[in-house]
Amino acid sequence: MTFRSETSAIPSIVLNDGNVIPQLGFGVFLVPDDEVFPVVTAALEAGYRSIDTAAIYGNEAGTGRAIRESGLPRDEVYVTSKVWNSEQGFDSTLRAFDASMARLGLDYLDLYLVHWPVPAADRYVDTFRALQALKTQGRVRSIGVSNFTAEHLSRVIAETGEIPAVNQIELHPRLAQRELREFHAGHAIATEAWGPLGQGTLLDDRTIASIAAAVDRTPAQVIIRWHLQLGNIVIPKSVTPSRIAENLDVFGFELSRDQVAAINALDTGTRVGDDPNTFSQGLDV
Ligand code: NAD
Repeated sequence: MTFRSETSAIPSIVLNDGNVIPQLGFGVFLVPDDEVFPVVTAALEAGYRSIDTAAIYGNEAGTGRAIRESGLPRDEVYVTSKVWNSEQGFDSTLRAFDASMARLGLDYLDLYLVHWPVPAADRYVDTFRALQALKTQGRVRSIGVSNFTAEHLSRVIAETGEIPAVNQIELHPRLAQRELREFHAGHAIATEAWGPLGQGTLLDDRTIASIAAAVDRTPAQVIIRWHLQLGNIVIPKSVTPSRIAENLDVFGFELSRDQVAAINALDTGTRVGDDPNTFSQGLDV
């Protein structure tokens, strides 16, 4: 197995805490633990240096093993995980973190996120306080949130005095999240796009297809390029080695201003995932 040690083609984003995250990473949602090892290995071989997992994905063990056995220095791979809804609260989040680290087999995380706000449970501020404690202890380099609205973010900032480094949100051409991205920009919160390809649903869109033909690239590459040009951190997922490589091969072309505008015009505010204001799976509310 060979791993390219030089991945300078992938730009970095500087977070509000001074740490840097690769702008393009790799997500492992819905990849079973017993299948994730070759998938993450293929991603690292292709040149990805950022892996996004979560406790609820059930694949931290295989993901961690692939990272450890890659032979890459720990500080060359950026690792993100997330605390699941059922573990929200200060003490339970600290315990959930220990369990995640035991599964991953790593001694620190680059980024730990509150997976969903679950506003009806009203525990996300205490959960974020646990992330602050983990950061102070040096067990996590950066802390952030996921699926938070401007309202949830404002409350975390007001009550903890800390601005999350990242908000990982559903974001793709049909849900461009313009207002939330503007809120993030105003608070130096980095925007990370999950479901960046609309979980595959955008790949046969006619506008995307015609731009792909014009730039001689695939629809997936065009959408990932759109994210990069918007300034998003983006973590597409695939289990197919050729697509894993394809999704990383997006630094040799650029979309024109008109092409970006045409993709922006696809925004209908349509989600493929759950609504952050009401999603509460795992927590009795
Ligand atoms: P995605 O938009 O990355 O779409 C993935 C799907 O698109 C694949 O399963 C495959 O069917 C298709 N695909 C990918 N590359 C392709 C290519 N080159 N050609 C053709 N088809 C291709 O969706 P996602 O996996 O939901 O999101 C990416 C990552 O975001 C996840 O793996 C996970 O790490 C993260 N995520 C986070 C949350 C959250 O709540 N924070 C929720 C969902 C996903």
